[in-house]
Amino acid sequence: MTGRTAIVTGGGSGIGRAIAERLAADGHKVAVFDLQPSEIPNSHVVDVTDRDQIDKALSLVREDLGPVGVLVNCAGLDGTKRFTDLSFEAWRRVIDVNLHGVFHCVQASLPDMIEAGWGRIINISSSSTHSGQPYMAHYVSAKSAVNGLTKSLALEFGPAGITVNAIPPGFIDTPMLRRAETRNLLGGTVEDHIQRTPVRRVGRPEDIAATCSFLASEEAGYITGQLIGVNGGRNT
Ligand code: NAP
Repeated sequence: MTGRTAIVTGGGSGIGRAIAERLAADGHKVAVFDLQPSEIPNSHVVDVTDRDQIDKALSLVREDLGPVGVLVNCAGLDGTKRFTDLSFEAWRRVIDVNLHGVFHCVQASLPDMIEAGWGRIINISSSSTHSGQPYMAHYVSAKSAVNGLTKSLALEFGPAGITVNAIPPGFIDTPMLRRAETRNLLGGTVEDHIQRTPVRRVGRPEDIAATCSFLASEEAGYITGQLIGVNGGRNT
């Protein structure tokens, strides 16, 4: 069955936008939560660290599109700082957006899925969790926790008909990646990295969207608690 109500956080840009477009093309009724207003249909200005904003937007989505069946947590904030120079405020904001944002959105949406006896939760984490990343301790810590949360929720809510999986993307051509390149944070250019990527190209937001589309489908009902790397072979 298609036509579920799907929420994509961070759906205004990059990977999230491609996911929102793909789920809509698959026949889902898609709403987007993002910091900035956008022309995307059913988009809501929501900071995922703010539970009140999430709850208000969710009420509108339920009224307009029906109960939530698919949740994709894609809103993310990166950051680069030597650990000795990392302020607690910067640490906390990155953990807030990347981890607590997932906590809030999942907890607020789960009642709809439990009621329906069906749900799909897909968390976009990061390939940096495979081996760590210097100068990104806060980001990698948050994304690693999202992977752990994914596995625990999969066990807890499998009996309720809800699957929970994570996609840790690596090296996807989005504004986030290009900002990192401009600020010289990649340890080389995107072109240099392509030469170190087994499939010899940068990832596209659509690569993540295609995986997400499958994980949201009926056919993926026997896949849960998994981290599905989409990274061109950079991590195996
Ligand atoms: P992006 O283009 O910067 O998109 C991220 C979106 O999330 C932006 O629209 C951003 O809004 C929004 N956002 C940030 N904080 C938010 C908040 N508190 N509440 C609601 N929305 C918020 O980056 P992307 O590359 O597509 O990243 C998407 C996800 O993939 C992120 O979780 C990222 O960590 C993950 N990821 C990306 C890569 C990669 O290679 N690109 C690799 C690993 C993981 P603003 O633009 O207004 O800040």
